[in-house]
Amino acid sequence: MNATESVNAIKGGEFLIRDTPAASIFIPEEWNEEQLMIAETCTNFLAQHVVPNLNRIDEQEEGLMPHLMEEAGALGLLSISVPEEYGGFGKDFKTSMLVTEKLGAGNSFSVAFSAHTGIGTLPILYYGTEAQKAKYIPKLASGEWKGAYCLTEPGAGSDANSGKSRARLSEDGKYYLITGQKMWITNAGFADVFTVFAKIDNDENLSAFIVEKGFEGLSLNTEEHKMGIKGSSTRQVFFNDCKVPVENLLSERQNGFKIAVNILNLGRIKLGGATIGASKEIITQSVRYANEREQFGRPISKYGAIRYKLAQQVIRTYASESAIYRASQNMEEATEHMVATGMDEIKAKLKGTEQYAIEAAIIKVDASETLDYVVDEGVQIYGGMGYSAEAPMDRAYRDSRINRIFEGTNEINRMLTVDMMLKRAMKGELDLMGPAQKVAGELMSIPDFNAVDEEGLFVKEKKYIANFKKAVLMVAGSAVQKLMAQLGKEQEVLMNLADMLIELYVSESIQLRVEKLVGMRGEEACKEHLDMMRVYVNDAAEKINKSGKEALNAFAEGDERRMMLMGLRRYTKTEDLNTTQARRNIAAKVISENKYCF
Ligand SMILES: Cc1cc2nc3c(=O)[nH]c(=O)nc-3n(C[C@H](O)[C@H](O)[C@H](O)COP(=O)(O)OP(=O)(O)OC[C@H]3O[C@@H](n4cnc5c(N)ncnc54)[C@H](O)[C@@H]3O)c2cc1C
Repeated sequence: MNATESVNAIKGGEFLIRDTPAASIFIPEEWNEEQLMIAETCTNFLAQHVVPNLNRIDEQEEGLMPHLMEEAGALGLLSISVPEEYGGFGKDFKTSMLVTEKLGAGNSFSVAFSAHTGIGTLPILYYGTEAQKAKYIPKLASGEWKGAYCLTEPGAGSDANSGKSRARLSEDGKYYLITGQKMWITNAGFADVFTVFAKIDNDENLSAFIVEKGFEGLSLNTEEHKMGIKGSSTRQVFFNDCKVPVENLLSERQNGFKIAVNILNLGRIKLGGATIGASKEIITQSVRYANEREQFGRPISKYGAIRYKLAQQVIRTYASESAIYRASQNMEEATEHMVATGMDEIKAKLKGTEQYAIEAAIIKVDASETLDYVVDEGVQIYGGMGYSAEAPMDRAYRDSRINRIFEGTNEINRMLTVDMMLKRAMKGELDLMGPAQKVAGELMSIPDFNAVDEEGLFVKEKKYIANFKKAVLMVAGSAVQKLMAQLGKEQEVLMNLADMLIELYVSESIQLRVEKLVGMRGEEACKEHLDMMRVYVNDAAEKINKSGKEALNAFAEGDERRMMLMGLRRYTKTEDLNTTQARRNIAAKVISENKYCF
């Protein structure tokens, strides 16, 4: 399938109403040699420069983090996806995701890296004029200059457009004078360039400005004392009639909120990549410890309770990863398609990412919660040593927690997932109505009790996933009908719907990945992968059922509720599966390899 056909096959959000052929998705087992070499460079960089210095980094030793960023820059790691004309390598999106994933295991370094290459660089790369890009991008790409992004304010966090920072034109018309206070700004302590969001005069919407550290009127507060990512610089930044040359307005006046949102779309999926990189590292550490630590005369990895944890860590990580690279490929192909039809490359990249904003929000939530699960069980596997500040789980546990908060909290991202779906349906971009009505009609028909007679390795799971789609359509369709304009205010229901969508998307992603992999390597080589898929989809059915039930009980009544609850049971019914044996098989594999090996 070529890029154009693939784009025609599935658009952002369409996973709810259409099927994706396994052959069309990208799976991490397909990395080419060059990409694997880049990944190895990242792994070596962390092993040589970051891991031995984690304590010094967390103590914020003067100059260390900027120095590490420069070293990463010298290896080209800050400029993987920056176009060659600005000193980068111009690599595709998936490759830049791979770098983010590999460096994701670098604790605070990963945060500094992600902020610099993402929110620190991309606003200028994507929205800058030629002159702005020529001035800033090569220096950001090399690491000579470091970037930061100033959106949040003390009174404006999730409600980012409500900030009080103001800009006004100077009397001579040469400068914008920005006054305001920004909070929680990553890399602020050593950044040279800040993308700052403020409203000009009494504008309704934000504008964005490129502000250099040396501009008059900019000052920094001291470092925040944080629960985790202690090595990441986080400060308040003050602007007191800060003099910004008019040519440093980024894009058009009042276009700032759009810039912020579009950059965050990209940041969300990237955050997913980084957290999965961290998850894999924690799993490796968990397995090694479980193999070394003996209690009652045997390594604790021999115990079922520990094996369950290891298997579950692996299953969730593998599933999240499947979703990340599936969506990355979609974004990349959408971009390529638009470039092929004549669109400017940067504009196409933005549009390609925006097209899959629903998937990006899903991935942000899912992958950050996967990492939290993985580190929490990592602490448990380490037992008392898990609670020791001298052992690695302490840092991992504290560092992981931020991922559910920044790049839009997980509550905001859950709400966005549903909101974007419904808005696209209302705009006629996504036909939810037709399929939802079809499911409503099916509810009246005589059920087939999910009898799955056909033979085939993926027949069952495909049928289950098709039914998950029906479950979401039924509950969401009914919620829209019953609650109408009120739905936005029924946040518990929105959370339920988002959870159903997340489980659906990730289930389908792992199923498609394993299907493609079996096609490449054969069934025998993919036994544990098949087990992972079966357990994930089986568990997803229960989660979808629970969320759906909660939602239906909140807004439906009487016979209608009873009928839909019956429908929900039907759409989330799975055949019995020995998940215990499946998890044992998965755990046995990582235990024998002594590392995350999928
Ligand atoms: C370490 C760190 C680094 C950061 N780096 C940056 C950076 O580089 N640049 C930058 O601009 N910002 C940065 N941030 C800010 C971050 O993006 C915000 O903290 C985040 O968006 C949440 O905003 P808030 O802290 O004001 O929380 P609030 O918005 O006050 O939210 C508090 C709680 O209420 C919930 N909530 C809020 N609104 C709603 C609603 N409408 N419905 C339901 N629940 C709601 C939230 O989900 C959350 O659980 C960083 C934050 C931290 C802690």
